[in-house]
Amino acid sequence: MFKEPTYLDNHSTTKLDPKVLDAMMPFLTNNYGNSASQHYFGYVSSEAISIARKKIAVLINSSDEEIIFTSGATESNNLALKGIVDSYKSQGNHIITTKIEHSSIIDVCKKLEQKGIIVTYLSVDKTGMIDLLELQNSITDKTILVSIIFGNNEIGTIQQIQKISDICHSKGVLLHTDATQVIGQLNVDVRELNIDLMSFTSHKIHGPKGIGALFIKQTTPKILISALIDGGGHEKNIRSGTLNVPAIVGFGKAAEIAKSELLTNSNFVKNLRDKFETKLQLIDGIKINGNINSRLVNNSNITIPNIKIKNLMRKVKSVAFSTHAACSTMDGNISHVLNAIGLNKNEIESSARFGFSKMNTEKEIIEAADSLINAIKELQNSSTHIISHTNISNN
Ligand SMILES: *Cc1c(COP(=O)(O)O)cnc(C)c1O
Repeated sequence: MFKEPTYLDNHSTTKLDPKVLDAMMPFLTNNYGNSASQHYFGYVSSEAISIARKKIAVLINSSDEEIIFTSGATESNNLALKGIVDSYKSQGNHIITTKIEHSSIIDVCKKLEQKGIIVTYLSVDKTGMIDLLELQNSITDKTILVSIIFGNNEIGTIQQIQKISDICHSKGVLLHTDATQVIGQLNVDVRELNIDLMSFTSHKIHGPKGIGALFIKQTTPKILISALIDGGGHEKNIRSGTLNVPAIVGFGKAAEIAKSELLTNSNFVKNLRDKFETKLQLIDGIKINGNINSRLVNNSNITIPNIKIKNLMRKVKSVAFSTHAACSTMDGNISHVLNAIGLNKNEIESSARFGFSKMNTEKEIIEAADSLINAIKELQNSSTHIISHTNISNN
């Protein structure tokens, strides 16, 4: 009988929480109104959207007025960068980001560069941390935006956003952060952290795909952001188009659950991750990537000597994991993140990413680790065999 693989790819997406599906069902069936309509069906939908917006705002400690719904973090990132650049281009043509952003930041930056925007890509140390002094020194009077990934989707490194925010604001520059991976793992408080713009998405917190949000801080004077999509003036004219009511309701429910289960889940997931890594460390020479002291609790990115991860993936069909980000920006499928922390091509090809969630069980994690260890040993033995064999024939 076919047994489903153990899902350890929770950085690329997560399983829908059954409670989220239950919350969505009425809006996929009887409650089909357009939330902009001025009649009973419209009111039912617009009421559901207000409630969901409130729940999402509570999760990040914003006001609901500050939440703009988008199709996901990719769109939120596009909107933040392109929207800010378009609104503030008369004040400057410089933005700052990092070398370890998600493709939806890097690719936007590449496009902005073609349009004459100057982009500084901050480097990171071996653990994936940016240098705060380098950030501070990179800000000029032409800088209009700093965009830094909060928690990295490959190696899990969590940046010091509070300190980054202090630096940006002491220089009067707006801060955007892609918080997609930290939401639901860490308590993110946009007030306390003093973040101006923040992207996140529903499907990384056990909500439905195709719905996300951009938080835009309410300030005086207002933060100006040009729309990518014009139309009926939805979402304060920042993002037009009929709202995806079932998805928004699901996102709201997922946010509510993420908030109420935050501590329990992060402890549970961290325990799974640590058990998994303890087991894998039985393999000689294994290396954990990222910052051990500041890392997403659900992340394990490891380099395994003398094997190619694509061979490991072929061998261990019972575990669903990945080599790196589902959406990579580098040619030849080489991770730009692992490259930025100084791994060479060989090491990158020997690196795997595992992502855990509340849906995993301790039993399946132990089994997955055992299957991986066995396969790694076999692959390492056959590769040393080939190497010694070649050596002999060379002599
Ligand atoms: C998944 C992810 C995205 C993209 O989110 P979508 O909702 O799939 O567009 C952006 N940034 C990071 C860090 C991610 O992990």
